[in-house]
Amino acid sequence: MLKLKLNHWLPKYFLKPFGFEAITLFPYVLVASKTTSIYLARHEFQHALQIEDDGFIMFYLRYIGEFIVNLVRYKNWMDAYYNISYEIEASDLSHDIYDPDFLGWLEHIVKVNVKGQRITTKSAKNKVIN
Ligand SMILES: [Zn+2]
Repeated sequence: MLKLKLNHWLPKYFLKPFGFEAITLFPYVLVASKTTSIYLARHEFQHALQIEDDGFIMFYLRYIGEFIVNLVRYKNWMDAYYNISYEIEASDLSHDIYDPDFLGWLEHIVKVNVKGQRITTKSAKNKVIN
């Protein structure tokens, strides 16, 4: 089962300085902040589905390969990132928060604060922040 780790050092110190909040390193979704938005969780959940479909090694090889090809093409690392096919699909589906598989996963792992649309893990000591 995919696990959500909030307030994790890896994205906090190595991704956030570059403007990124989370990374999916299957079977973990690692998030820099103490809470996360439901849309980001849905985005990362899509990456987990992509990894299940294509396999762990193929996913990361293709991800990095497309990033390098895009970097040559666009000569800009943000454009290179946003044009990775996995990122395009995950971003397109990030608002598909009523997907039954996604909701089933959420139900298992998180407390949902519907009002603020922020989520936190059941085991997190931190209160939900809006
Ligand atoms: Zn992504």
